[in-house]
Amino acid sequence: MGLLQRFARPEYRLGREGEAERADPEPERPADATATQAVPAAPGVQSAVPAQSSAQEGGDGVSSTIPSTPDVHAGQQHQPTQDQPQTRGAKVIAFANQKGGVAKTTTTLNLAVAFAEAGNRVLAVDMDPQGNLTMSQGIDPDSVDKSMYDVLVNNIPIRDVIRQREIDVACASIDLAGAEIAMSTKIGRERSLEKALKAVRDDYDFVCIDTPPSLGLLTINALTAADKVIVPVQCEYLSMRGLMQLQNTLSMIREELNPDVEIEGILPTLVDTRTVHAKEAIEILEENFGDRVFATRIRKTIRFAEAPVKGTSVLKYDPDGSAAESYRELAKEVLDNGR
Ligand code: ADP
Ligand code: MG
Repeated sequence: MGLLQRFARPEYRLGREGEAERADPEPERPADATATQAVPAAPGVQSAVPAQSSAQEGGDGVSSTIPSTPDVHAGQQHQPTQDQPQTRGAKVIAFANQKGGVAKTTTTLNLAVAFAEAGNRVLAVDMDPQGNLTMSQGIDPDSVDKSMYDVLVNNIPIRDVIRQREIDVACASIDLAGAEIAMSTKIGRERSLEKALKAVRDDYDFVCIDTPPSLGLLTINALTAADKVIVPVQCEYLSMRGLMQLQNTLSMIREELNPDVEIEGILPTLVDTRTVHAKEAIEILEENFGDRVFATRIRKTIRFAEAPVKGTSVLKYDPDGSAAESYRELAKEVLDNGR
């Protein structure tokens, strides 16, 4: 198999080597860091100023003014399951792949709803300016007056942009397209989402973050806020190069911003089990990522295109179908993995 041999070369082995060599995973602070910390950090949040963050450090940029009042959230009030003790706060999962159309949004929503079905309190955060996650819960992104843009750029409480649907949704609007530029001069710009989530982390068992198809500042915010990353991969057009790029970005995030973030799993999506190509693509994934490839496969079915039109998850649209079942299976896999 030509493809297999090509991807079995050592440079395609995607381990986490190098990490162990880091003596101190804490990001260093620049000498003048104290001068930029006029705002007291919320407990547990590291300095807003990472050492060698990305290119354009804003110098005199706007310092953040995140309110740290621990308001009580009025959202879902399910009891946490035994697996998810409340004391640890939500497990935060980012869904990332810079390629579009690989089922990031579909997976974020349907896994979030599957977690909720299993008795968990779930928040889904829409970090994609296209607002597909927001739309797929029947909310028009053009009609929301406050969105994740205001959370990230103007530091309004995330609670102000949460709407309750099958799960709680922190909504996106088209404004979000301007957020990366608006945040670019802000000190601690990579940590805006992490800070915003602190206020609600204890109110949920899971926070699921949908990301745009790029590795820009919105995705970096998601990866910085996350404990785990789930990478949906479309088996039809498997891009190992794209996965390597994502892996590199994650390594940088670990070094500079979030030492503990890990890949929870790689999820084969849009799988057409009848084709040899899909089988081969999954083999390539398993060769490179080993048991980090989920056992669950998400098959291709028209149900996934139909459900968002009705503004619902597949679990609500066709509760007994195999599409819904596959996301329940995935939820079980993640829950069984523990934290
Ligand atoms: P992304 O967020 O990565 O861009 P989406 O979740 O929006 O990807 O999915 C892209 C398109 O593929 C959407 O039209 C969605 O309805 C469809 N889709 C997602 N998963 C499946 C599936 N398992 N079978 C068929 N269509 C799917
Ligand atoms: Mg999407």
